[in-house]
Amino acid sequence: MSQTPERLRMSGIVKRFPGTVALDGVELSVRPGEVHCLLGENGAGKSTLMKILAGSYRPDEGTILLDGEPYAPATPHAGLAAGIAVIYQELDLLPDLTVAQNLLLGRAPRLGPFVRRAQRAKLAREALDRVGASFPVTAKVGDLPIAAQQLTAIAKALTADARVIVMDEPSATLGEAELQAVFDVIRSLTAEGRSVIFISHRMDEVMEIGDRATVLRDGRAVGVYDLSSTGPDELVAAMIGEAGSELVGATGR
Ligand code: ADP
Ligand code: MG
Repeated sequence: MSQTPERLRMSGIVKRFPGTVALDGVELSVRPGEVHCLLGENGAGKSTLMKILAGSYRPDEGTILLDGEPYAPATPHAGLAAGIAVIYQELDLLPDLTVAQNLLLGRAPRLGPFVRRAQRAKLAREALDRVGASFPVTAKVGDLPIAAQQLTAIAKALTADARVIVMDEPSATLGEAELQAVFDVIRSLTAEGRSVIFISHRMDEVMEIGDRATVLRDGRAVGVYDLSSTGPDELVAAMIGEAGSELVGATGR
């Protein structure tokens, strides 16, 4: 195990909000090329942990290593520049801007003070093609259906050349066909050695796309599971804190 290089290691992460300890010393380790599922009931701390990873929140305690190097982003922009792209459920795209503007926001190719629009459109088109999206890069994001906005957010992660792509409950807004398109993108990303952290409540999705899973409960990581040898019942039991054979109930104990 120690031979496997780590893409990401979050250690002893603590985050307090007034009246709440959202994260109480969380450990998370993600390998290159892995789909790592982050599981837990509502309020377990999944989104808070990912906001720390993104640079949206600073942890009160704890450290992060990215490909073995200390990583402590002060802002989401710094996080993205370091190769961490987080796609939130509430997509943080700007609805009044075009797809191309959103994809390369703050990172557009420039010639002096001028944005090189043709070059930006070309980069945006390439990213949209990679996620299988056929809508024009000139479309206004706010005019697109939510699934297309989701693909735009994923394409944005691609233009940033992210090493770690986090998807926080993408399926909540996607239909089955769109979800399969996103899964295809996830598989192509991990085939390139990128790591994906996938948050979902739906065990069928987790079993389909995930390699390993970390279960959070009450702000702590309570287990790391290899999904080739773990069933959904065991994961759910860990999530709700009833791990053990008594939950199965088949023995009649
Ligand atoms: P999850 O994504 O697993 O549902 P969250 O990370 O959103 O969990 O929340 C973890 C805990 O932290 C919850 O108790 C939640 O109420 C609390 N929390 C999250 N964000 C904030 C915030 N900005 N201010 C105060 N409490 C928060
Ligand atoms: Mg959440």
